[in-house]
Amino acid sequence: MPVRTSPAVMAFPKSAALDALADGIMATNTGTPTEPPTVVYVNDAVCEMTGYAREELLGRSPGILQGPATDQVVIARLRADLDAGRSFAGQTVNYRKDGSAFLMEWSIAAIDDEDGRPAYFVAVQRDATVPAFRLMRAEHDARTDALTGLPNRAHVDEILDSGSWLSTRVHSAIVVDVDHFKAINDQHGHLVGDEVLRLMARRLTASVRGGDLVARWGGEEFCVLMIGDRNDPSVLGARIVTAVADTEFETSAGPLTVTVSAGSASATTELDRAVDILRAADEALFRAKRSGRNRAEHAS
Ligand code: GH3
Ligand code: MG
Ligand code: MG
Repeated sequence: MPVRTSPAVMAFPKSAALDALADGIMATNTGTPTEPPTVVYVNDAVCEMTGYAREELLGRSPGILQGPATDQVVIARLRADLDAGRSFAGQTVNYRKDGSAFLMEWSIAAIDDEDGRPAYFVAVQRDATVPAFRLMRAEHDARTDALTGLPNRAHVDEILDSGSWLSTRVHSAIVVDVDHFKAINDQHGHLVGDEVLRLMARRLTASVRGGDLVARWGGEEFCVLMIGDRNDPSVLGARIVTAVADTEFETSAGPLTVTVSAGSASATTELDRAVDILRAADEALFRAKRSGRNRAEHAS
């Protein structure tokens, strides 16, 4: 279909259109071998995003937006891409006029002169801080138990995945299950049950070493993965059982005596996959339950 160049098209207000965009548009010249490129155009969105007035950016190097946390590897790739005649896309920390940092996501393409040599570079810029935080938050939430704040089962499954590097560093595992937890719910209500689970999470975390990972494995079941820690898990299992039973849990229904049973297992020559170590710990827990609860058993 032939393109119609109606008067309306010819009168298209380019500058107003660029200023109407939510994305920033910044154009620079190519600079010289000794001078960096300098800004020749910015739209309103760039000023809004960076806090600089147009006059403060025109004639300056775009490096004015860089600072201590700017990833120089990204900047080096930018230069390499443009030098090689490729367009560039990337993201790194940039700084507003007031010094505050934001995550800039941008792409750059060259505008060639009549001889096909780059005359200008034009960049589309976007503040990606909020989307990046949302993504980080969503990833964090997906791995975190909302009630206790501990890593959840999905997180543990990721670690146990035989393909993960961490799985090879799990030397021992402990599974901890609250004794007669159903009775706590039945006597004091579900909300008090929830309180006990939250307090339990804190008590377990306080009982282990920094490198050990405490997770909520299921309803009233927790697990401890001893990562890169070659201490005897049966000692920690027994310590956890005592730490829970010895001090009452201060709940809104008053102080409650709560006990747990624990099962532990360590890697052996036959048992070296993290997922199998955890299964062996679970079997030991079953024996602890069967032999009376409020006790720890170690996989034999
Ligand atoms: P045992 O000593 O054999 O482990 O007995 P138990 O009562 O602890 O075990 P059981 O598996 O019979 O009951 C576990 C209960 O935990 C049942 C379930 O309603 C409760 N539960 C699971 N998740 C939650 C939770 O998030 N909050 C509360 N309040 N209760 C939960
Ligand atoms: Mg239980
Ligand atoms: Mg249970």
